[in-house]
Amino acid sequence: MKMSGSAPDARPSAKLDRAVIFLGPPGAGKGTQAQDLARRYGVPHLSTGDMLRENIAKGTPLGAKAKPLMERGELVPDSLVLKMVAARIERPDCSHGFVFDGFPRTVAQAQYLGELLKQHGFRQPVVIHFAIDPALLMRRITGRRMCKVGGEIYNVFERPPKLQGKCDYDGGELEQRPDDREEVVAPRLQAYQKQTAPLVAYYRRLGRLREVDAAKSVDEVARRVLEVVDGTR
Ligand code: ADP
Ligand code: AMP
Repeated sequence: MKMSGSAPDARPSAKLDRAVIFLGPPGAGKGTQAQDLARRYGVPHLSTGDMLRENIAKGTPLGAKAKPLMERGELVPDSLVLKMVAARIERPDCSHGFVFDGFPRTVAQAQYLGELLKQHGFRQPVVIHFAIDPALLMRRITGRRMCKVGGEIYNVFERPPKLQGKCDYDGGELEQRPDDREEVVAPRLQAYQKQTAPLVAYYRRLGRLREVDAAKSVDEVARRVLEVVDGTR
């Protein structure tokens, strides 16, 4: 998983002290914005997708269970994901908050997370819904490339690197995720609609939901995300 470093415009002196949750379909831009927000606040970016891919790369038993499901575009069982997240937020770098990207993805995960945050003494989370027309997602997903070294996210159509195939930050090789092939996109979007989209209503009922228009440019979405997070601190 990518750990947040310091960007030139970082302002880690600004405190977060809570969980920020990015909710939205695959390809909506959650990871791109989470990397940026986490850097600004000097808190970890917790992408459960990255954590699972790291387990696959290391050949752990969790990775072995997750791999075939991820390749088919299905969700990994709640019990496995929850254990992984609970262990991660115990670590000291999480004491001032964190940015979740791709978690929670089911109502059961959201309920468990609510308990976990209470146990750790965090305030209520801010949930940012990345609203976007699904027709825009195919191009974003199939064009996505990630740096093998630091996990930086690019897009061959929308956000290409300066040098083809190389990361602007560390020169690492860019690769396509196996589940970003066109044939896996439909099952992933179906899993989102069926299992994750109900969280929009769940968090709205709790009064925690804020919306961003994720079809806008990366900079505009980033501005809106900051406005929301700064406005709720
Ligand atoms: P998610 O984490 O929601 O799956 P990503 O942040 O990985 O989405 O973004 C998906 C793809 O779309 C990436 O290739 C990224 O470079 C690109 N992207 C992200 N945000 C935008 C945006 N606002 N406009 C155009 N492309 C974007
Ligand atoms: P992502 O990187 O968020 O697009 O996630 C990639 C894949 O990892 C998903 O399609 C799921 O198979 C799995 N995954 C990631 N996060 C979760 C989660 N919170 N619950 C279940 N499965 C997950």
